[in-house]
Amino acid sequence: MRIGIGYDIHPLKKGYRLVLGGVEIPSDRGLVGHSDGDVVLHAIVDAALGALGEGDIGTLFPDNDPRWKGVQSLTFVKTVRSLLKKKKLAVAHVDSTVVAETPKLSPFRMKIRKKISDSLGVPLGSVGFKAKTNEGFGAIGKCRAMACFSVVSLKEIGRKG
Ligand code: MG
Repeated sequence: MRIGIGYDIHPLKKGYRLVLGGVEIPSDRGLVGHSDGDVVLHAIVDAALGALGEGDIGTLFPDNDPRWKGVQSLTFVKTVRSLLKKKKLAVAHVDSTVVAETPKLSPFRMKIRKKISDSLGVPLGSVGFKAKTNEGFGAIGKCRAMACFSVVSLKEIGRKG
């Protein structure tokens, strides 16, 4: 069994777009990053790469490479999916927890799950997405950052389960 864990955090600032799991969320602040700063997809990509034994997101998509500037993080997911396919592997299950003080993410939960499901080619029932606050503590609690934890398990293509 192959399992990987991923974590990401980005600064949250006024005037930036907020994209989580490939879904744009209406908000007065958004995530600052070399790409679109999508902490959810970044954590998922790192988890998948961990399960694959293939380094990390910073190695594959360096943040000093102009190719990835302003790029949609769905591009990273696509690349990882083809890396998995080459090794005859696919994502079996993915679960993510976003830690964010604001905005309330529960209204977007289904849309985000659907987007993750589509981008990874995983059934909706195998995509978990949860959001919680940091109870006011630290940079996340003060709405200066947003973080995400993800876990990905892989399965061999062509096998049941
Ligand atoms: Mg990141």
